Amino acid sequence: MSSAFGQSTVLGYPRIGASRELKKAVEAYWAGTIDAEALHSTAAGLRAQVWRTLRDARLDAIPSNTFSYYDHMLDTAVAVGAVPTRFTRLGLSTLDTYFAMARGVDAEPALELTKWFDTNYHYLVPEIDPDTVFTANPVKALGEYAEARELGITTRPVFVGPATFLLLAKGEEPFARLDDLVGTYARMLAALADAGVGWVQLDEPGYVADRTPAEIDALRRAYTRLGELAHRPRIFVATYFGDLGDALPALLDTPVDAVGLDLVAGPGNLHRLAAAGPLGGKAVVAGLVDGRNIWRTDLRAAVAAGATVAGLADHVAVSSSCSLLHVPVDLSVETHLDPRLSERLAFARQKVDEVVMLGRALRDGTTALPAPLPAAPAEWRHDDVRGRLAALRPTDRQRGTYPTRAARQQERLGLPELPTTTIGSFPQTAELRRARAAHRAGSLDDAGYADRMRAEVEQVIRLQEQLGLDVLVHGEPERNDMVQYFGEQLDGFAATRHGWVQSYGSRCVRPPIIYGDVARKAAMTVEWSTYAQSLTSRPVKGMLTGPVTILAWSFVRTDQSLADTADQVALALRDECRDLEAAGIRVIQVDEPALRETLPLRSGDQKAYLDWAVGAFRLATSGVADDTQIHTHLCYSEFGEVIHAIDALDADVTSIEASRSKMEVLDDLAAIGYARGVGPGVWDIHSPRVPTREEVVEALRRAVAAVPAGRLWVNPDCGLKTRAYPEVEASLRHLVAAAAEVRGN
Ligand code: GLN
Ligand code: ZN
Repeated sequence: MSSAFGQSTVLGYPRIGASRELKKAVEAYWAGTIDAEALHSTAAGLRAQVWRTLRDARLDAIPSNTFSYYDHMLDTAVAVGAVPTRFTRLGLSTLDTYFAMARGVDAEPALELTKWFDTNYHYLVPEIDPDTVFTANPVKALGEYAEARELGITTRPVFVGPATFLLLAKGEEPFARLDDLVGTYARMLAALADAGVGWVQLDEPGYVADRTPAEIDALRRAYTRLGELAHRPRIFVATYFGDLGDALPALLDTPVDAVGLDLVAGPGNLHRLAAAGPLGGKAVVAGLVDGRNIWRTDLRAAVAAGATVAGLADHVAVSSSCSLLHVPVDLSVETHLDPRLSERLAFARQKVDEVVMLGRALRDGTTALPAPLPAAPAEWRHDDVRGRLAALRPTDRQRGTYPTRAARQQERLGLPELPTTTIGSFPQTAELRRARAAHRAGSLDDAGYADRMRAEVEQVIRLQEQLGLDVLVHGEPERNDMVQYFGEQLDGFAATRHGWVQSYGSRCVRPPIIYGDVARKAAMTVEWSTYAQSLTSRPVKGMLTGPVTILAWSFVRTDQSLADTADQVALALRDECRDLEAAGIRVIQVDEPALRETLPLRSGDQKAYLDWAVGAFRLATSGVADDTQIHTHLCYSEFGEVIHAIDALDADVTSIEASRSKMEVLDDLAAIGYARGVGPGVWDIHSPRVPTREEVVEALRRAVAAVPAGRLWVNPDCGLKTRAYPEVEASLRHLVAAAAEVRGN
């Protein structure tokens, strides 16, 4: 039966288009410059392009319903009728109801947006309650299936599976609704079978994280029921992002037709599979080509792994380890890259070729595989950096004791109680963006651009002085992005020109590639910080991005451990900190907003991650004297498993998001004995709303009840780059006034 599946497939493909056509069309629709029909036709064009690309690449089995106007979780919510009444009652068209869920409208906030597992993709969180009425609504999937059929291409519709869908939902016990929801999936499968659909793909990545025996049992029950349906397409349950653990035998127990395993992020799946015994005719779809990173596959090693699977299962197909949504579309347009680098890379289009090649090699032997790559060029190695790493001692990650540091810093900085500050960026105005575009296009030269940025820094400093803030920032006008900015200046990083990856909705990012040893060529931020400091007697914070965040938002080399790469980045930042200090900068903030988001999905892997992550941060920040104050910033307040790690960073001051969670995080920090400076955000910068002085006072009073005033800082939740000046001025005025009021009594 699995012969219809063939030898090769991918679990999904980028939907944004090679030139981000989807982003442009969707945003034009939102702006009202194109109508729904024009949007639909762009979308249909993009889908057709993807299917033709996959067919022409000779991929055997082609997915559909992987296209999305915004997000595939949202699509699945719509497909099962889980549209909250707060949106249906708006009375909008189907498309506008969909976008209202994604982005909110005046009267109704959007669904919550959150990280898709440990990737940089974000999904919309379905709201499921005991009274949510599920209804089968496979219109989109059937439409796409028919569209592809018109082109002569038979596809396999993809949905998020029912168990993962509920595990990722929020509401009152969503998972308790699994039986109901499986009933709805059964009706969807029947409708698909009626339309002639041969295979369907149900994604269950939720089971590569720690799951309770009850949750695993529920998975078994769900797929037993779906598998036993008399009228259905063949079912392929795809999993990805790691090891299935105990969920693997459970899934193999069910009468589904194929199971997909990530053999890149979850090598343990192979052992589990071997231990599982006969597979009863089930096909195994072996995820051998990394869908999360941009390196070419070691095809010989992949064939060997594939052959092991073939020894265990009657039918094997090769696939990407997960959807290719997480990598850029096509390497062939990156003509500016060093050919010695590009020959090592594979983006989505190239990965499809690898999958096809592997599928053939599994069947016909490895003779047709291309030659292995030559060794990496010698100049990608920095022996000096390696020497420094090898010579590191524990004391290199250790500062003086906190009480001594705090006293020396206070002596030097002379700050009032409840010092006020901001997180770094000031509004990126249209004018700034125009200057950057002109600079890139060559119509504004380096000197003109630098002048423009200096003028901006001066304005930002003057504004902060006027507002009466205590610790100032330069405002980051020169930074396009907090990782790319450093990537452009460090050895070992390459930037793509078109390597966009969807982050959420129409938002795309262009992660740099870390391909060689990381080394700092020259100071990266000192000029900007010292210029800002020269304009004022108040302390100006140096502003750096931490090693964990730099790795999290880049494509990272896989030929050495993440820990070593993080330490290389940390050494560059350590030198930068020392240079800032030597240039008279007294406070340095090292942002680590990604610390929690790259936490491994399995608790058993978390300690090793946190050890190197904390170690790298400390390596970056412990080279300075006791009287230099180190800040860090985290964009969230639910620390969960990382709370001890946040303490272990040993920063003098930690600023965090707190306004929405009403300062509860301070109790969490107190409970683990965190006893250094903390700046809980008192202004929710994610909304244009200006907090009143009274609101900030109230937040601060709550904060002083949890933390001694001597350790408390007053700041917004995050950087201000997405806000506009009128809100920023008014809000900061209230923030400074509130701090003064609370200090006064
Ligand atoms: N310093 C950065 C800013 O203010 C921090 C951004 C972030 O936390 N994501 O923009
Ligand atoms: Zn932030």
